[in-house]
Formats: sequence, structure tokens, C-alpha cells
Amino acid sequence: MDFTFNQEQDMFQNSFRKFLAGEVAPLVAKSESEHRFPVALFPKFGEMGYLGITYPESLGGMDLGYLTLTIFAEELGRVNSGFAGAILAHMSIATLPIYLVGSDEIKERYLAPAIRGEKIGAFGLTEPGAGSDAASIRTRATKVDGGYVLNGSKTFITNGPFADFVTVAAQAAPEKKYKGITLFLVEKGAKGFTQGAPFPKLGNHSSECGELAFEDCFVPDAQRLGDEGAGFHTLLEALNGGRMVVGARAVGVAQAAFDAALKYSQEREQFGRPIFQFQLTQGKLARMRMEIEASRLLCQRAAWLRDNKQPCAFEASLAKLKATETSVYVTGEAVQIFGGYGYMEEYPVERYFRDAKSMTIIEGTSEIQQVIIARHLAG
Ligand SMILES: Cc1cc2nc3c(=O)[nH]c(=O)nc-3n(C[C@H](O)[C@H](O)[C@H](O)COP(=O)(O)OP(=O)(O)OC[C@H]3O[C@@H](n4cnc5c(N)ncnc54)[C@H](O)[C@@H]3O)c2cc1C
Repeated sequence: MDFTFNQEQDMFQNSFRKFLAGEVAPLVAKSESEHRFPVALFPKFGEMGYLGITYPESLGGMDLGYLTLTIFAEELGRVNSGFAGAILAHMSIATLPIYLVGSDEIKERYLAPAIRGEKIGAFGLTEPGAGSDAASIRTRATKVDGGYVLNGSKTFITNGPFADFVTVAAQAAPEKKYKGITLFLVEKGAKGFTQGAPFPKLGNHSSECGELAFEDCFVPDAQRLGDEGAGFHTLLEALNGGRMVVGARAVGVAQAAFDAALKYSQEREQFGRPIFQFQLTQGKLARMRMEIEASRLLCQRAAWLRDNKQPCAFEASLAKLKATETSVYVTGEAVQIFGGYGYMEEYPVERYFRDAKSMTIIEGTSEIQQVIIARHLAG
């Protein structure tokens, strides 16, 4: 067993940290206050090759695997969870189905420009009436000559307000239930396709999510992703094995909160000494650190399994559940250590606390992770 990064992963982490400090961290305050994602970040990330970490070099990717992707997600989450949400949605769930089942032509038209950061992707699965029970989606894809007509709506879609294309799940044969679910690529500007304004939300203010509406929206056959009825299987493949990446983003947020709380505890004095010297504070920090380390290891182990082509859905769910719940716990304790200042916008911990909560909900809630884990326990 080897718990160290190899030279390539070490170099990646160092150079990515430099990139984040120079190009990304300076944008955080403005994005947070304006509740907008700075879309110019996409081509910047694309130029550096970051958007193709897990994709093959033939498509412009880096082919560095999921362990490197967890490093990327943690470092980005540490700087800003909203940026991480927008960029990871594009890099994973929006584009992974294209990679898994898209034709060569579709990969050239959508995936390659997405890796270069020239086209921004979103992923549309959730509907007002269908969240955890994704198989019950009602957006309808009706077969017509040369393609399909989509009718329905999607909600909470990250990058939805500005995406250049959306990978959308629709029901082509309701009588077949989940076996009728089919994936399509819909381009910005397509007739009958509307991208709603960003929703106001609790946290992750630097990312935007909103509604997508399809009203008699024609999609040509060539933009169907994979076979009719095979969409649910592709979605599970895309979601199940990648949940450690959301976990790693959550670890990044927790680490940022921990770093801020440790520093503050050594500077803030009460009763004539730094609050770090109180054993109750030390106990908090020790426990926070322990939970972060455990979460990080679970995420990296799940990623390692994936990179080594071993089954990892169970481990990815363990990692997602542990890391996202840890992030909520650690960021809450960080606010507590800051006392009243922790509740004020002047310090970053209130943002970490708000941002962390989203991750126990997205890409399968904590309860759904427990259902998946229990299913594996039952064999
Ligand atoms: C910031 C943000 C960004 C998002 N981005 C995207 C995106 O890009 N694309 C996309 O498609 N979706 C996106 N979503 C939607 C997200 O995936 C859903 O919110 C999530 O799957 C939960 O669905 P729901 O909100 O309908 O909750 P529901 O499914 O209605 O769940 C409500 C509660 O019931 C619990 N519950 C449900 N079923 C069970 C069960 N079987 N056992 C026990 N408890 C259960 C849930 O755990 C939860 O606590 C985003 C959401 C947020 C908040």
C-alpha cells in the first residue's frame, strides 16, 4: 500500500495551486457578491488542459485519471465551492455521457470543444416532480421524422442559465418506465428551448443554477446520445462511479474552513489567552482534522479503484456520504470557533458553511447514498 502521490500527481497539485492563486482566487469576491459565474474561466481552464483531466489525449484531454480529478476537485473546492460546482458539472455529468456513448462525430462537435472550454455544458435530469426518483421523469421525447420533439422542464440545473449545450434526459417510451429514458444533446438557441434565469439560493453564489424548458423542441436523431431507452443505464454509469469527486470538492471546503479556524483560534484571545489553548477548542480542531483525513482517504481510495478498473460504486457512495456530511460538520464547527465573527460575512467561514450544505443534496442525497450502500450490504 502506498499513500503518497506519484511525481505526476504532486506536480499537478503544485501547478494547479499556483494557477488557482493567480487566476481564480482573485475572482471569488466579485462572483460571490454578484451571484454570477465568470464564464471566461472556462476557456482559461481549457487552455491549461484542466477540463480534460480524465479524457483521452486524442480529444485534447490529459488522461490523468480520477485520482488526479479528486486532487483537482479538492483544490478548487478549497478556493471556491461555487466555481468547483460549475466546472465539475461541465467536466463530469454534462460531458461524460458524450464520452461514454456519443458517436465520433458528436464527440468532435461537443466533447472536444467542451474540453477546450469553448462550449459550456450542463446536465439536465432533475425535474420539479422528479429528483431522487430519477426514473420518474416526465419530460417527453416523441419520435417524429428525422428526430424527436421534446416537451417538459428541468430544474436546479447547474450552468443552465448560460450553457451552450445541455445533456438532457427524456422519456421516449413511458410504458417502458426507466427503460424508455433516452439522452439528447440540445443546443442553446434551439427553437422551443428556453434557459431560465439563475435561482437565488443559500450558498454557492458563484455558480448559477436554473430551469430549462422544452416546448415542442425538435432534436435531430444525430443528437440522441446512445440508443433509445439506454439513457438510464448511461446516467447510472456516469453518476455512480464519479461521486467521490463531489466528496473531494466537499473535503476542499472543509479543509479551507479548518485552516481558517485553526489560524483564528491561535490569534483570538479570551480570558487572557488564545482560544486555541482551551482544551474544548483543541478537541474540536482535532476531531475536525480527523474527519477531514478520513473523508479524503475514502475519496482517494474510491478514485484509485476506478483508475484501476475495479468496481467502485459502493466505495464512491461511502466517500460521497462521509465527505459531504463531514464538510457540513467541519464548516459548522469553524463558524463556532469564530464565534459571532463566524456569523458575519466579513469572514469566509459563513460562506463555507452555506456552500457545504449543497453537497449532501446534489448527485444523490445523503439518504440515497445510504440506500445504495445498504443495497450493496444486502448483496
Ligand atoms: C445547487 C444544486 C445544483 C444542482 N445541479 C443539478 C444539475 O446540474 N442537474 C440536475 O439534473 N440536478 C441538479 N440538482 C438537483 C439535485 O440533483 C436534486 O435536488 C437531488 O437529486 C434531490 O432531488 P429533490 O431536490 O427533488 O429532492 P427529493 O428527491 O424530493 O428528496 C427530498 C428528501 O426526501 C429524501 N428521499 C427521497 N427519496 C428517498 C428514499 N428512497 N429514501 C429515503 N429518503 C428519501 C431525500 O433524501 C431528501 O431528503 C442540483 C441541486 C442543487 C441544490
